[in-house]
Amino acid sequence: MIDNGFIELINLRKELAKAEGSRDFVEYMLKRDELSSNIFEGWKDELRSYIDILNNKRNELAKRYLNMNELKPWDEEYLKSIIAPSLNKKVDMTDYYNILREFFLNFGINLDNFNITYDIFPRRNKSEWGYNFRIKTGEDSRVLANVKNRYSEYKTLLHESGHAIHSFLQDPNEIILNKGISGIITEGIANLFGSFIYDKLFYINFFNKEVEEEFEKIKEYEKLSYLKFIGNIFFDHELYRNEIFSLEDIYNLYFRVYEDLFGDKPLEEEPPFGYRIHYTTHPIYMHNYFMGDVTCEMLRKVFCEKQNVENISEKPTEFIGFLIEEVIKPSGLYKYEELFEKISGEPFSLKWYF
Ligand SMILES: [Zn+2]
Repeated sequence: MIDNGFIELINLRKELAKAEGSRDFVEYMLKRDELSSNIFEGWKDELRSYIDILNNKRNELAKRYLNMNELKPWDEEYLKSIIAPSLNKKVDMTDYYNILREFFLNFGINLDNFNITYDIFPRRNKSEWGYNFRIKTGEDSRVLANVKNRYSEYKTLLHESGHAIHSFLQDPNEIILNKGISGIITEGIANLFGSFIYDKLFYINFFNKEVEEEFEKIKEYEKLSYLKFIGNIFFDHELYRNEIFSLEDIYNLYFRVYEDLFGDKPLEEEPPFGYRIHYTTHPIYMHNYFMGDVTCEMLRKVFCEKQNVENISEKPTEFIGFLIEEVIKPSGLYKYEELFEKISGEPFSLKWYF
């Protein structure tokens, strides 16, 4: 990344932000998304009360499963496959469309009515990431992915299909309003559908009830360990608020952010900082996923309370109605923070996540 100009890219973005009259590139990007420049300010303090729980859990798992004292960043995916081996179960993906179609019918959504083109199988030089490209709202949407015959890969297909469906639920005539929909809302809706990978409503296509305990465990672990993702978000910010001349500077910045947020000691090795494509193609974007999940949890709680149910999957069609009326229809009219407060009655905060 460095050899190919990553530092020059960061510097150009810094220059752009200055030219646009912003204090820094972070503020510039947040302004474009109509988010307050101080939106992340309270996070570190809010996070503090969960750090011990997070670190104790990680150490406990490291001891139990890896015979080590602590988890390193590169152990995380391996650990997941130990906690929930069914995620790696080999499945035949050729029938993916019918599986997705049947699943979304539970919500009263028929994929056949939408013009979604799926291109999901590997080929040479294809990006390994999942995408949804909206070619034209309400008319043409494309899902590009690169999946293997593994159960966990359905999470990507559910996520990207969630994006595609969202675009077909918008009014194509509201061109300006549709442009104003926050990335947090779009990623939130996509993540919400992605999360059904652990729900009986979806897994029943591949497993019996025996995976229930395994999936409950991995869900709980992922929710807790996702707090570490805030490190990615904050590290991305710091890239644009500090002078960077070398790879060494980047590593030091990484260690500083993770020590500051989580109390992590600097690693003896190079930190795995740049494996997410976002640092190059989608800077100051990753908060959309995390805040999208916080929004999901808020929507889940508000809906379940209103409907007096434990779980969305008890009333899937009512949930889609709620999503359309309360979120999708008004989402272009309000700034994200206003919409959040309008639905939940309280300002955005991390507490909704727990
Ligand atoms: Zn997405």
